[in-house]
Amino acid sequence: MSRFLDQKLHELESYIPGEQPKGRRIVKLNTNENPFPPSPSVIDAITAEEVGKLRLYPDPAADDLSQSIASFYGLEKDQILTGNGSDEILALCFHGFCPDGVAYSDLTYGFYPVYAKMFGVKERVVPLREDFTLAVEDYMELGETAMIVNPNAPTGLAVTKKEIESLVKSNRDRLVIVDEAYVDFGGESSIPLVKEYDNILVIQTFSKSRQLAGMRLAFAAGDAQLIADLAKMKFSFNPYSVNRLALIAGKAAIEDTEYFEKTTREIVETREWMKKELERLGCIVLPSKTNFLFVRPPFAAGTVYKRLKDHDVLVRYFPGERTGKWLRISVGTREDGRKMLDALEMIWKEESHA
Ligand SMILES: *Cc1c(COP(=O)(O)O)cnc(C)c1O
Repeated sequence: MSRFLDQKLHELESYIPGEQPKGRRIVKLNTNENPFPPSPSVIDAITAEEVGKLRLYPDPAADDLSQSIASFYGLEKDQILTGNGSDEILALCFHGFCPDGVAYSDLTYGFYPVYAKMFGVKERVVPLREDFTLAVEDYMELGETAMIVNPNAPTGLAVTKKEIESLVKSNRDRLVIVDEAYVDFGGESSIPLVKEYDNILVIQTFSKSRQLAGMRLAFAAGDAQLIADLAKMKFSFNPYSVNRLALIAGKAAIEDTEYFEKTTREIVETREWMKKELERLGCIVLPSKTNFLFVRPPFAAGTVYKRLKDHDVLVRYFPGERTGKWLRISVGTREDGRKMLDALEMIWKEESHA
């Protein structure tokens, strides 16, 4: 630490992203990326001509893309704001929409506590039930902004739109932010509620279900005034955060509904197959509505994580009281899944002889 860092950031511990190994042929099931390439229409859209236009700034209002997203969800363009990944939009929310603090669950996106610290937002941690389900009752008549990941990570469990509506209704003077990074894999989106209530903001990303994690693109859907507030913050910070290629790639991706449906369906099928196979190997597996599984292996999870790594299979392990017995395993291709399961079988043999 230099002597120049502001005192208020001395205690800040930054978010630790999942590893991105270089070079090696690894079965990478640790960061919930999509195993498929982007839609062919995305690849076609990024022409030499568009690359040539990179000398020009992008449209800071992202009009075309916002219109495509709005049409897809049956909203108006002024109900959509795009950003450089959900991470950027979430940062703006912590900065500007949490004047009395923020409430979120004890097991959720690991970035939230980091944002809270970074932006000096008071946090209230609401424990999930013993079985990892989220009790919406715990979020009724809040004294702060609610931040709900639905379906949740790392558990994969979801609440219904009706449950989200009940807490939106019971908190008319509080904002409810729903992070729907994984909703396309079987969750129920709360985007339709945006038309009825001005105190809900839904955030979705192109990183997981639309194969564009490397492009950095996400959007928020909400009441036009909320969106205008977000735009004000964005234009006071980084108006050009969505680059030209992201604008055209995002538009092509959202318009290719066929590819989107085909790839999400395949991931859901692979997920259900992986779940059965893991259960056959003696694991406890939570029912997932996402592109990952939360898995309790019959041996120490930390050891299994390390042993899988020795077999060139990378999954995510979160040490700690509630998560330390579990692994989060992304759903890749069926071939990835097969390799992971074969490695587990070998590890089981070794562990039961140890
Ligand atoms: C992956 C993820 C995000 C971040 O997505 P980006 O759009 O890539 O920044 C946001 N929230 C949750 C819960 C996630 O898992």
